[in-house]
Amino acid sequence: MAEETIFSKIIRQEIPTELLYQDELVTAFRDISPRAPSHILIVPNILIPTINDVESEHELTLGRMVVVAKKLAVEEGIADDGYRLIFNCNQHGGQEVYHIHMHLLGGKPLGPMLAV
Ligand code: AMP
Repeated sequence: MAEETIFSKIIRQEIPTELLYQDELVTAFRDISPRAPSHILIVPNILIPTINDVESEHELTLGRMVVVAKKLAVEEGIADDGYRLIFNCNQHGGQEVYHIHMHLLGGKPLGPMLAV
């Protein structure tokens, strides 16, 4: 059984957070340490620790995450200029919180995808 992270408490609204979106499958809220003018995290309500743990039964949830990202990008006013969606996985991917989450980043030119 995977260990819960702070994101489970946010999803259950046990700690104060400005929720931007929540339905039966996913929750979205602002990143506490924004790396862009708009930096939102979209997370599944169920605990999936890493993208390596995704199974076919999660397809609906993963699809919902993208649909919600698009909706929030429109609401943030960043859809036309563009934005970036990122999943980090494990150590080399720079994952810090082991409850999968999609980063939605935008509001300025984000530059090259990777600093090399
Ligand atoms: P990652 O490196 O992909 O695991 O990203 C984890 C993200 O979660 C980071 O961008 C953190 O700033 C963000 N984060 C950690 N704790 C919180 C929190 N309590 N509320 C909102 N965002 C958080």
